[in-house]
Amino acid sequence: MNILVINCGSSSLKYQLINMENEGVLAKGLVERIGIEGSRVKHETIGKEEVIIEEPMSDHRKALELVLDALINPNYGAIKSMDEIGAVGHRVVHGGESFASSVIIDDRVMEAINDCIDLAPLHNPPNIMGIEACQELMPKTPMVAVFDTAFHQTIPASNYIYPLPYELYEKYGIRKYGFHGTSHKYVSLKAAEMLGKDIKDLNIITCHLGNGASVCAVQGGKSIDTSMGFTPLEGLAMGTRSGNVDPAIIPFVMEKEGLSLDEVNNLLNKKSGVLGISGVSSDFRDIEEAMEEGNERAKLALEVFTNKVKKYIGAYAALMCNVDALVFTAGIGENSISIREQICEGLECIDIKIDKELNKVRGKETIVSKDLTSTAILVIPTNEELMIARDTLELVQK
Ligand code: AMP
Repeated sequence: MNILVINCGSSSLKYQLINMENEGVLAKGLVERIGIEGSRVKHETIGKEEVIIEEPMSDHRKALELVLDALINPNYGAIKSMDEIGAVGHRVVHGGESFASSVIIDDRVMEAINDCIDLAPLHNPPNIMGIEACQELMPKTPMVAVFDTAFHQTIPASNYIYPLPYELYEKYGIRKYGFHGTSHKYVSLKAAEMLGKDIKDLNIITCHLGNGASVCAVQGGKSIDTSMGFTPLEGLAMGTRSGNVDPAIIPFVMEKEGLSLDEVNNLLNKKSGVLGISGVSSDFRDIEEAMEEGNERAKLALEVFTNKVKKYIGAYAALMCNVDALVFTAGIGENSISIREQICEGLECIDIKIDKELNKVRGKETIVSKDLTSTAILVIPTNEELMIARDTLELVQK
């Protein structure tokens, strides 16, 4: 069966068509600037040249129409007709407490996703638009929703309740939800496979280090804690997000700088993190380059970032007692040799020993730890699309 994986943003749409017989990607692409002037589809059928289709797209429905046309195009398409798409898997950011796993989409599910808009006002609405567009264009094809939050629904209350008045949880659902769940799940399963062990017997710490970044403690295949929280703002310092700061700083800065709620939200989400500290960029390649040229604030930004990751690893090691595997994934985790090395430096005391030679690897599944007796350290390229497709296949075959 071929499965179409859709990831809708507010003005973008990423897609992959995957043949589940061999889990090979048949075609993939990105639609940009939906509803804005200059909209276009970048489409690539594997083995053929990439094409760019520039056409006005007023909404996600039009965007999806062009994507489906591209997929069945006789010259640059991947399939002959839409009948060759067996199911569609949709990435949905927030499933709240309603979804602990992926689900077949029906009216009740759509209602529940709508109910979560309050918790993810920027993300759930475009996800919903993507689903509705697909339902209109492919009314007979089964659809599945795969939630970023679902994997973390196994986190115990002792780790998800904030030390705030309990009524805030009861009234508004203020608790830790966690994000990047599909990625943490994929790489923890892959780590078990690479180590030839049953995931039920493993304690794994997964570090998803991209522009957004989070760490997760996976015990016996279940998330028991993660660094992102009620929103993706909590936890690590990120590209532009602050991560954890003393909450008292927020009213203090609002008063001193005369900032509104929107402005302080913008400051914490868009102007902080390694961009805020370095003043250079949110892109870790630029920061590493600036550091090499002697920029002290770039060096400091990297140290703040790596120290935070290190502290979460220590905390999760304490939570799980012993750690069988430490996994690095996403843009930085997969590609930055020096950041992986810097994070592991000093963690020898908890049996995390990186092999500097083996660590000279980018974007390839590799075990980079020193010996077999200490914690296994793995570099694993994440594959959220494949995880979404696998969940979709499992549900539609049931
Ligand atoms: P993602 O959000 O997973 O796409 O990751 C994006 C981040 O990965 C950006 O900050 C990039 O700078 C970073 N990244 C990608 N390649 C490298 C690399 N070779 N070295 C350091 N950072 C990288």
